[in-house]
Amino acid sequence: MTVRRVMGIETEYGISQPGDPTANPMLMSGRVVTAYARDLGLRAAQAGWDYEDEAPLRDARGWDISRALADPSQLTDEEDPTLANVVLSNGARLYVDHAHPEYSSPEVTSPRAALTWDRAGELVMREAVRLLNGPGMPPLNLYKNNTDGKGASYGTHENYLMPRETPFARIVTHLIPFFVSRQVVTGSGKVGIGTESTTPGFQLSQRADFFEVEVGLETTLKRPIINTRDEPHAVTDKYRRLHVIIGDANHCDVAGLLKMGTTSLVLSLIEADAIDKAVVLDQPVAALQAISHDPTLRTTVKLVDGRSITGLELQWHYYELAANWVTSRYGGDVDADTTEVLQRWESVLTRLGQDPMSCAREIDWVAKLQTMEGFRSRGLEWSDPKLRAIDIQWSDVRADKGIFHKLAAAGRFEQLVPEAEVERAVKEPPEDTRAYFRGKCLERFTANIAAASWDSVIFDVPERRTLQRVPMREPLRGTKAHVGDLFEQASSADELLQALRPDND
Ligand code: ATP
Ligand code: MG
Ligand code: MG
Repeated sequence: MTVRRVMGIETEYGISQPGDPTANPMLMSGRVVTAYARDLGLRAAQAGWDYEDEAPLRDARGWDISRALADPSQLTDEEDPTLANVVLSNGARLYVDHAHPEYSSPEVTSPRAALTWDRAGELVMREAVRLLNGPGMPPLNLYKNNTDGKGASYGTHENYLMPRETPFARIVTHLIPFFVSRQVVTGSGKVGIGTESTTPGFQLSQRADFFEVEVGLETTLKRPIINTRDEPHAVTDKYRRLHVIIGDANHCDVAGLLKMGTTSLVLSLIEADAIDKAVVLDQPVAALQAISHDPTLRTTVKLVDGRSITGLELQWHYYELAANWVTSRYGGDVDADTTEVLQRWESVLTRLGQDPMSCAREIDWVAKLQTMEGFRSRGLEWSDPKLRAIDIQWSDVRADKGIFHKLAAAGRFEQLVPEAEVERAVKEPPEDTRAYFRGKCLERFTANIAAASWDSVIFDVPERRTLQRVPMREPLRGTKAHVGDLFEQASSADELLQALRPDND
């Protein structure tokens, strides 16, 4: 596999109630999830998301489960918002995390599909906002960004399936300089320097100032460049799910494609042990921030061998490694996704080196900077709170209010995935991962799904005395090719279960 691998994007959305800064974000986030779920008539798969949470559903006979416990009574606003957690027919998860509504995309196998199903999440959030802004309701807004500009940061996580056998130390060594530098391509841009934006200016990344250490388990405190979270949601001794917390939420398709595609490619290099000499940064966290703070891209950072290097040069280093490896390994037989990622990567790096503004149709931070410069030329200073407000408004999910969406409607960005495909992805799961099975179960048999997680679906069918758990420990099983016919033939959930019985993992 080159750029193709099992991957998924989790996006936490910023939330606010205009006019009431004291509104409780946890309760508001719960309202977002429940409003959307209820509108779809989803039987909320509250219970049993995590393995630990599944424990109370289990009894001595395994998955013989007390129906009462699993009965997901209709969610109400008064219920504990941290429990708000549903699975959608597209295979995604919609829930409340760290007092933010979060959409975790279904598992996909290409950067372009990752983009498609992440953008579907934007439509989900936009619809939730519409549902919650009826007459007599307090206004509520959502933002696809990673900081409120006042000191809070929330994550956009990437997830990549890797073989367990790849040594973690090798992953750490090569990914640190890659992550420190990829923001020149993938950063979403931020007005203000520092976690609370106290120093006037503009920087490449929303997240850079919030990182404190190189490697660690935390995701919200002492944030690490490399996160060691190790929950594969799959066969544990075979797979690792690399959990990446350092990325910004992207709006631009090209930047989003490159974020997923170049990272996946570098992981392939690491898996193949194809990088013989590591570049090692002297102070990775300081370098991350120094590179972010300079939109001219000229700042250099120190390597342990004493050399100085720019973020752009670091990216060229990885690009050359990847391009050479793909050519030597695959020759002319390279898949179209990998070719596209390499071509776009080279093109963007070339133009960022000449005139970053030439990437305004492709790269988020450049597009945002260009807009901000427009306001500055009319007299606004970087220190002006209006520019900070515009920065937030940039990522408002509403089509008629969000600055990105208004510019997109005017044709200002290169679009890789047409809107119609994104709309389809709000309902339809990817066909080539287990998300297909999960999503189709939700679509066809909502009333019979007691709970679902990445690696299992739990059925409650009247024909059976106990709940029935279908394990899905292999991310590439449960695809349309595997189970599409079963859904065609089954006229009830019980029939589906019968058909699955001989081979259900
Ligand atoms: P947290 O929200 O606390 O970070 P988490 O990282 O466990 O929790 P979820 O919000 O449940 O994450 O989302 C998991 C993401 O990982 C989803 O986007 C999903 O598509 C993806 N994913 C699930 N299993 C795998 C896997 N085996 N390999 C790669 N990606 C996976
Ligand atoms: Mg999550
Ligand atoms: Mg996560």
